Amino acid sequence: MKKEIIGTSNKVLEVDLAARRFWVSEIPVGDRELYLGGKGMGLKLLFDRLKPGIDPLGKDNILVLTMGVLMGTGAPCSGRFEAVTKSPLTGIMVTGSCGGPFGMALKTSGWDAMVIHGKADEPVFVCVDSGGATFADAAGIWGTGTAAAQDTLLAHGSGAMVIGQAGENLVRYANIRSGSRFLGRGGIGTVMGSKNLKGIVAKGREYKIRPADKKRFDRANKRFLAHINNNPVTAGSWRSYGTNANIRISNAAGILPVRNFTAGSHGQAVKISGETMAEKFDTRHDVCKPCAILCGHRGTIRGEKRHIPEYETVTLLGSNLGIFDPEIISDFNELCAEYGMDTISTGGTIAWAMEAAEKGLIESDLRFGSDEGIAETITDIAFRRGQGAMLADGSRMASKTYGGEDFAMHVKGMELPGYDPRGAFGQGLSYATANRGGCHLSAYMVGVEAMFGMADPHALRWKPYMVKFMEDIFSAVNSLHICLFTAFAVFLEPPLIRFTPTFIIRHLNQNFSLLALNLMDASLWPELWHAVVGKRYIPYLGMRGFYKAGERAHVLERYMNIREGIAKKDDTLPRRLLDEGRTCDHEAKTVPLDSMLKTYYRLRGYDENGIPREKTLEKLGIGKQTK
Ligand code: SF4
Repeated sequence: MKKEIIGTSNKVLEVDLAARRFWVSEIPVGDRELYLGGKGMGLKLLFDRLKPGIDPLGKDNILVLTMGVLMGTGAPCSGRFEAVTKSPLTGIMVTGSCGGPFGMALKTSGWDAMVIHGKADEPVFVCVDSGGATFADAAGIWGTGTAAAQDTLLAHGSGAMVIGQAGENLVRYANIRSGSRFLGRGGIGTVMGSKNLKGIVAKGREYKIRPADKKRFDRANKRFLAHINNNPVTAGSWRSYGTNANIRISNAAGILPVRNFTAGSHGQAVKISGETMAEKFDTRHDVCKPCAILCGHRGTIRGEKRHIPEYETVTLLGSNLGIFDPEIISDFNELCAEYGMDTISTGGTIAWAMEAAEKGLIESDLRFGSDEGIAETITDIAFRRGQGAMLADGSRMASKTYGGEDFAMHVKGMELPGYDPRGAFGQGLSYATANRGGCHLSAYMVGVEAMFGMADPHALRWKPYMVKFMEDIFSAVNSLHICLFTAFAVFLEPPLIRFTPTFIIRHLNQNFSLLALNLMDASLWPELWHAVVGKRYIPYLGMRGFYKAGERAHVLERYMNIREGIAKKDDTLPRRLLDEGRTCDHEAKTVPLDSMLKTYYRLRGYDENGIPREKTLEKLGIGKQTK
């Protein structure tokens, strides 16, 4: 019979790649209450170990992997793990979430977290089981793509995470593959490459995970599942068409990035929509496990079974390059998957190169609207060949060298995802304040502003309140740690929201936002957390405690970034979004960032330079490093 873990083991496996040894540490009980798990716990583990100012590609950088608290309990969309490190793309903290099978394998090997120190002198992969870690020679798989590398590692366990050639060659936005899912942004795969670490594989299936309060868990889980299965997004459009269900919405709302963010919509957008792809490619579900939303899809493209590119890929490697052929976008996606490269940063950097070539800043045959040379450029980036070597450092570094900084579409060095904030001002503020840089998952304001029409996209009043609220909630959900897409069901299905007409919600959001935000019922998430970890830690977390844990993780990450030199000067947007109008607007619209930022800092308890005040850190219990 399998051994049992009640909720969480609190065991951390720490490995030193240089010395090829491991040791075990514990997650302190107090930290579980304050940081929950996933993202929050990953940041805390990193904060306690990482020296400020180190080279992200040097031996002193540390990679932390944390498992979801609900993982292994069977809760829908709970099979997620988080990676946290210092980013070689941005030079600040980066966190990322993945629904691949590695997380479940590590957790059911008995570990709630893994911390990777040092740099191996030769390529290695690490095998984990309940007894600890062993180190194996990876020379035979160094130089292989992610699919072949993963197949090799899976001979040693039930879940693996690997890098491809892009990570080995230190492309600053290399990612990590687990199953058919990717841990995408900020070069977390590059950090693995810099440590000569090709992959990690965990045996798994050694422990069974049991919620501390099974009855309470079953009740909450049943309600959770019902919400997911009732909601028209989670059980409707996203289940049928994946995240590409957003293409038509974004196009209609004028937030689709087109030709390096010069237009917000395009007449051919329907060709790359989820609806079109479902029909054309005869799609089937291909998802993280377990999942009830089922947003991921596979289909038959060019006679092969392929993963259907997600919304961000379709926009950044498609519409933003002026390409509206989903088969061609799928070709680019397959290349990025094989080499292990973030499709958002790859597309954003290529878009910069196209415009730089158009303006005569660099010599290149890349042109908007033409797929000529793009596949070759992706390969050149992955192997740092020719011009690819310059593009492998991302659009910020390339534009600093060759010019064109005004149209390098990044925040803090990370390329922007697929929503143009001139059509959703709250999203603009959230890009500017997101801790990891150009990120749509820090606060998904386009959901409120464009998808559901719950706030005027161009109104400014209350947007800082909404952005802070969503940042805290999303940070808590990523610490719980469960798929962010469950937010549609958790927020929209409680009767008060479900049965209130949208125009009333919009009115409340715009005129009485504090009241509206307080009426939001997110109690399902803390209820699930509490049922899993039980009363070992605290009597009751509650919704306020849950929000607070999210706020704490967000401010801790900001504080760690401040130590790396981040301040108000970095909380900005590409000049194009602040100064230039677009072809889709009758009247030029630009993001009025400054007026929102001041209020946002005040709400956050930051000073006028964006630095968290002492009393803010104290209030949240963010203390000194403990190691
Ligand atoms: S909704 Fe999509 S991203 Fe979220 S867990 Fe399911 S398949 Fe993964």
